Amino acid sequence: MRHSGLAAATLALSLNCGVALALDEPPLPRILPGHVPEPASQDERGLWMEMADLEKALGSSPLVIRDPEINGYVQDVFCRVAGDYCRDVRIYIVRNPGFNASMAPNGMLVLWTGVFMRVRDEDELAFVLGHELAHYQRTHSLLSWRKAKTGMAAGSIFSLALGVATGVLLPVGESLAMLSSLSFSREQEREADLLGTKLLAAGGFDPHASYQVWKFLVEEERHAVAKSEEPGVFSKTHPEPLQRSRELEGYVNERYGPPADRAAAEAEYLAGLSRHYEELMKDQLDTNRFGRTAFLLDRHATMGIDPALIDYFRGEMYRQRGGEGDLEAARAAYLRSAGCERPYPGSYRNLGYLSLKSDDRSGARTYFEQYLAVEPEAKDREMIEFYLESLR
Ligand SMILES: [Zn+2]
Repeated sequence: MRHSGLAAATLALSLNCGVALALDEPPLPRILPGHVPEPASQDERGLWMEMADLEKALGSSPLVIRDPEINGYVQDVFCRVAGDYCRDVRIYIVRNPGFNASMAPNGMLVLWTGVFMRVRDEDELAFVLGHELAHYQRTHSLLSWRKAKTGMAAGSIFSLALGVATGVLLPVGESLAMLSSLSFSREQEREADLLGTKLLAAGGFDPHASYQVWKFLVEEERHAVAKSEEPGVFSKTHPEPLQRSRELEGYVNERYGPPADRAAAEAEYLAGLSRHYEELMKDQLDTNRFGRTAFLLDRHATMGIDPALIDYFRGEMYRQRGGEGDLEAARAAYLRSAGCERPYPGSYRNLGYLSLKSDDRSGARTYFEQYLAVEPEAKDREMIEFYLESLR
């Protein structure tokens, strides 16, 4: 990892702070395993009922991922980090390309699919889950809900349920974010980081994964180039991520020693990510946040995602961005993908379309034929055959 002079100086400072921080023990959970949280007053009863309604709506929302393999995997990682609290939390994986995770006071944990694109391995995923569990164990959301004016909280929950019911991607994202944006204080975030790290280590995961997740999010924000790439939801609800990640890094180094090589864990996570990469990256592309997308593609390339797939999506990113020189860049990327040992079929198809656009009829024919040869069962086979017919 590179650091500028200033960053390195700050890092050194925060490492020194680590000595002081290490004297702090992570806070203890405020609730015991198996505890069922309840409304504290008549006032609160309505909120809890709305929360239950929302959870019901989530349960039948088309945006919730039902794939038993993905759910089983996340549940397994969660249980390893949660220990005795494993059954106190219900996890809903929501299809949304942003990075967010939120924890409701009743034990409803919402995890966005964008998290899978931003963690490098199981340890980092475990930290995201552990951090949220720590908020639950410390009853942070409960405390901030009680502090919030009932009317306001009820209103946001209402819009939340509405968003889920309508099944529209962004409103759901925005309103789900409200769950976490009944915001935690800096101290609560620090507690969640420390307790989350402790849970991580106790579950047999690498505690260094903790600050590495935050560092990556900071990097991603730096790559958000256009105005439309406004800060992600998580950054809005978790302020000062850079400072937090540095403090946490100092603390982890002090308490657990220097980081070890985590290459072995990456391979397993990578296989899972690869299986779902196409859906996940299509959702990311749909955000039109090209700076972020380019940054993610670069990271996934270094992680070892199939280069044919990476270059296909680089091509897609350039094609959709459509700026100066982007069509040429798209063509070059598709060509690299098509030149791979196991070419990604869509690259041939899109090279065909680009050739059509530039009136290269024989080129278009060749690419479309190659596409159908490598992907005989293509869903758009009829369409491609239609083009081929007109090119003869
Ligand atoms: Zn948090």
